[in-house]
Amino acid sequence: MRELITPRRAKDIILATLKKLPSVACPISQCAGRILRERVSADRPFPPFNRSMMDGYAIRTAEIDASGTFKIIAQAPAGAPELTLGNEPGVCAEIMTGAVVPSDADCVVPYEVTRQIDETHMQVINRKDHAAGDFIHAYASDRPIGEVLLAPGICIGSREIAVAASCGCKTLLVSEKPSIAVVSTGDELVDITATPAAHQIRRSNDLMIDAALKRRDLPAAQLAHLPDEPNACQAQLQALIAQHDLIILSGGISMGKKDYIPAALDALGLHCQFHGVAQKPGKPLGFWSHPECAVFTLPGNPLSTLTCWHQYVLPALDHFMGQDSSPIPPQLSLEAPVKARDDITIFLPVSRKANNIASAQPANNSGDLVRILQSDGYIELPPTQEKGYPTGKSFDFHPWY
Ligand code: AMP
Ligand code: MG
Repeated sequence: MRELITPRRAKDIILATLKKLPSVACPISQCAGRILRERVSADRPFPPFNRSMMDGYAIRTAEIDASGTFKIIAQAPAGAPELTLGNEPGVCAEIMTGAVVPSDADCVVPYEVTRQIDETHMQVINRKDHAAGDFIHAYASDRPIGEVLLAPGICIGSREIAVAASCGCKTLLVSEKPSIAVVSTGDELVDITATPAAHQIRRSNDLMIDAALKRRDLPAAQLAHLPDEPNACQAQLQALIAQHDLIILSGGISMGKKDYIPAALDALGLHCQFHGVAQKPGKPLGFWSHPECAVFTLPGNPLSTLTCWHQYVLPALDHFMGQDSSPIPPQLSLEAPVKARDDITIFLPVSRKANNIASAQPANNSGDLVRILQSDGYIELPPTQEKGYPTGKSFDFHPWY
């Protein structure tokens, strides 16, 4: 490990190192969850015509006389071109939701406030209640033509798809997906298909990271496992670096005699951006880069891996994919006082209670994988000269993904 840097500095270095991925045209039906890389402007006004908001009758309000009756002279269904009522007074058109309001009508009276007199006549109830503009979604009243509706850098959800579809976008320019390898290390770890011997454990970090990637619709292109042997580590890393944009590796990066990863990355000519962060858990976190590939080295203890994933890899992925900013974390306030340190940031697992209260759920140690199940996420406790933080103090909360 090198000189410890602060979590803030580590994040800044990662974001400054990772350049935005190129963009690619994608059919709109496959754009959900992708990051938009172009502007989408209104190709027509919203709405593009005076749209009826109700099923009923289109009338001229000035013609509501004492009898309130109107002669029905036309039908205006949705999908039919605009019609006119013409010069005869006291006439109306039966109209449907989504239809174009006749150019010389000024109000839609819903069926609910009319009475059908016979086949060709209706009567308006509560004559004084109807005003020009009622139930007409007016031309261009939402947005004028040419206005930018979607800006680059947003994550495309169902609302954005609807707006883009309304503008006739058959494809959208989105960020390419990176090719990601998830790599675990360690001779004590066996695949879940194997029965572990007494001195072995099943590996889980790789599947945990892949699961988190899948929730971002970015499944790992490759899962690999490296032995605690320097030559094999270096050879396998070389092949992985040549094939992928990003490598998310766990384990083998601390001070142990068999932690060969840092030396292997250095030997392969990658630049160590940092190795060691003033934080708990996850102090041995590192980040190496190369023009074509970046490598996150996460400490192997499951809670360290998980915390570093959320704190660093997730925002890095957002940035890499061209997303403008990560969501602002909600604030939770402490249910009871917590201890803190004067030299390192503590990421404390908590459960989120009603009224945004954080209840501490500390793990026994960073290898305590099962205790994580009792927490909903973690809060970020910066270093303080005080012994700790008091009840009620608020901190950024990061939910487990
Ligand atoms: P290391 O960072 O390699 O020193 O590993 C620290 C601890 O995390 C050790 O107890 C490892 O067995 C454990 N560990 C490392 N990688 C994994 C993994 N992929 N799945 C589960 N535990 C792991
Ligand atoms: Mg190890």
